[in-house]
Amino acid sequence: MPTIRPAWSDDDLEAFRELARTFLEKECAPNEPRWNEQQHVDRDIWRKAGELGLLCPSIPEEYGGGGGSFAHEAVMAEEQIRALVGSLGTAVHSTIVAHYILEYGTEEQKKRWLPKLASGEYVGAIAMTEPGTGSDLQSVKTKAIRAGDEYVIDGSKTFISNGLLADLIIVVGKTDPHNAAAGISLLVVETDGTDGFSRGRVLKKIGQHGQDTSELFFDGVRVPAGNLLGETEGQGFIQLMQQLAQERLVLAVGAVAAIELTLDLTLKYTKDRQAFGKPVFQFQNTRFKLAEVATTAKVARVFIDDCIAKHLAGQLDVPTASMAKWWTTQMQCDVADECLQFFGGYGYMEEYPISRLYTDARIQKIYGGTNEIMKEIISRFL
Ligand SMILES: Cc1cc2nc3c(=O)[nH]c(=O)nc-3n(C[C@H](O)[C@H](O)[C@H](O)COP(=O)(O)OP(=O)(O)OC[C@H]3O[C@@H](n4cnc5c(N)ncnc54)[C@H](O)[C@@H]3O)c2cc1C
Repeated sequence: MPTIRPAWSDDDLEAFRELARTFLEKECAPNEPRWNEQQHVDRDIWRKAGELGLLCPSIPEEYGGGGGSFAHEAVMAEEQIRALVGSLGTAVHSTIVAHYILEYGTEEQKKRWLPKLASGEYVGAIAMTEPGTGSDLQSVKTKAIRAGDEYVIDGSKTFISNGLLADLIIVVGKTDPHNAAAGISLLVVETDGTDGFSRGRVLKKIGQHGQDTSELFFDGVRVPAGNLLGETEGQGFIQLMQQLAQERLVLAVGAVAAIELTLDLTLKYTKDRQAFGKPVFQFQNTRFKLAEVATTAKVARVFIDDCIAKHLAGQLDVPTASMAKWWTTQMQCDVADECLQFFGGYGYMEEYPISRLYTDARIQKIYGGTNEIMKEIISRFL
């Protein structure tokens, strides 16, 4: 992992990094095997993270957050990879869900929900995907129909990160089912004691086993009209398009951190492991392949640091965020595959972190908008 401080960092951020690293290494990493078995983290860990100020670090202090910037979110994402803590869904919670509320919520909504997300009293999730609709978000079938002072939500969602533990879910639904994009609105559902809301099974995945990815069901769920995010219906699609750039960037940040960690672990292993009387690193194939990986890591680092700096300055455009997402996650998967090979059979064993880096990488090309959709977006700007 790089020891050079990125240009977008400073003393305050490095102190935050240290705090995050200690928490992740001491409080989370030792529990990862158990969390993987049970398919979710312990609920309590969210409160601990909240107490330390590790949740919602870029939400203003007046709403209970850390008062920082996206750089804090980036540091958290990097440190989670470094500590191999894939189970705690803080990116969805802090970088995504809290920011929808911050950007589009009324003052009353921000004061009502953000402090609970920042403290870990609430775990946040966002429910876009449905069994029949993923990439084509305009075609969601979930209905959120106004009835007097309430909205009535009917539909089902799948693959929802933090789905099992979520206390607050931003639901993508149609307030006008006869319209495509213009019919979409975002509704906030607080799950505790809510009639008609239920959770399906925690889905078994090929990686990220400790992440509670779940199905969610809404059967005549009634929420107050005041739970519409923002004040007017039909804004949901635009809100999603605006926020997805930050979601894509944080996935790319994690991808680059994973590339760097993968290289690091592979260098250590190949310099130690002997075959034919010499370290595996000494074979020309190993050195050349790792020279390529080191080059990829360097290019990815320069690119992501530039994207972060641009985002901090409010200048990261949509196609560049999409480029960052598809390219870094593609590289993450390629690098994980190449590097696992150098571990031989040990690379296929769960106790070797390289196997985890390999299986956890694969989803990166799929969620947050598939890499095909990223190229679709980029091509519209060419
Ligand atoms: C572990 C995990 C966590 C997730 N977390 C969340 C979450 O928290 N919240 C949430 O809402 N969703 C979540 N998702 C869902 C994820 O965002 C979707 O799976 C993803 O958007 C793709 O949708 P889909 O699975 O329906 O695939 P589809 O949309 O059916 O796509 C199938 C294939 O067709 C391709 N394709 C589709 N349209 C086009 C096109 N126009 N051009 C070219 N190719 C195309 C896709 O790229 C893909 O390869 C998660 C998924 C997983 C597996």
